[in-house]
Amino acid sequence: MPVSVVTGANKGVGFGIVRSLCKSVGGTVILTSRNEERGLAAVQSLQAEGLNPVFEQLDICSDDSISKFCETIKSKYGGIDILCNNAGIAYKNASTALLLEKAEVTNGTNFLGRIKSTEAILPLMNQNGRICQIAAFNGILNRVFPEPQNPIRLRLLDPNLTVEGLIEIYRQYMEAVKQNDYSLFKWDAAYTISKCLLIAHTRILGRQLKDNPKNVILNCCCPGSVATDMSSHKGNLTIDQGAVTPVLVCNLPEGAGSGQFYREEKLYDW
Ligand code: NDP
Repeated sequence: MPVSVVTGANKGVGFGIVRSLCKSVGGTVILTSRNEERGLAAVQSLQAEGLNPVFEQLDICSDDSISKFCETIKSKYGGIDILCNNAGIAYKNASTALLLEKAEVTNGTNFLGRIKSTEAILPLMNQNGRICQIAAFNGILNRVFPEPQNPIRLRLLDPNLTVEGLIEIYRQYMEAVKQNDYSLFKWDAAYTISKCLLIAHTRILGRQLKDNPKNVILNCCCPGSVATDMSSHKGNLTIDQGAVTPVLVCNLPEGAGSGQFYREEKLYDW
């Protein structure tokens, strides 16, 4: 029986993905949340619909939580067939927080937290495992760095870019924010930058996973504009509609390839 894991699933798109995986894939669907109370309440509400997910705690920003989660997977479940990395944050447009704080906190979860948790969980993937990173359309390279000669764009497109090189670009972004120098990075783009870097990380992992013996396939996607707390319920899609592309990416057929971006159920050139 397959084992699926969805991060940040106590509400929003992640909750919709758990619901969909329970219905379409079955097996053991693990709803994870950084907060136990909210996670258990979400499991109960799905149980009331006749579904049967299980709860495990996972905070993708906490080394301790990631390590305990990995131990639990090994001892209780053996391994993972589907991993959907959904957990993410965004400051509201109306937030008066300084850009430095927004940049640090947003990237701390959406970029650094994702790298840390994905790399820790990756070795636990079973044969033919599938990983979906939930990114965002506004993080695609052609929107964030449209100028063809922007040096950051060129580095992100470099097929030899490493994770270390990518983290160096992140540091450069933080320096630009500190120096108030937005010649290379858009000034108000903490969330957008975090998703752009996440897509770049997906591409790097995709290259690393090429021909991997376990045949694990890893890609990223945008769920669309979904009515959730993050979007202040302004998206045009329900959480069930927002789950459609992520669930497709979680179930890509053999040979689909890794390191790609999906949108509206189709491959999309980032
Ligand atoms: P919500 O704010 O509704 O849900 C976000 C989820 O992530 C919550 O469960 C939250 O937990 C969890 N989370 C945040 N930080 C952590 C952490 N450190 N560890 C574990 N879980 C965490 O957002 P959405 O459902 O809208 O967003 C889900 C994903 O989809 C995000 O990655 C977002 O960027 C992406 N996305 C959303 C779009 C939209 O229109 N809604 C559009 C494009 C992309 P808690 O309840 O504890 O805060």
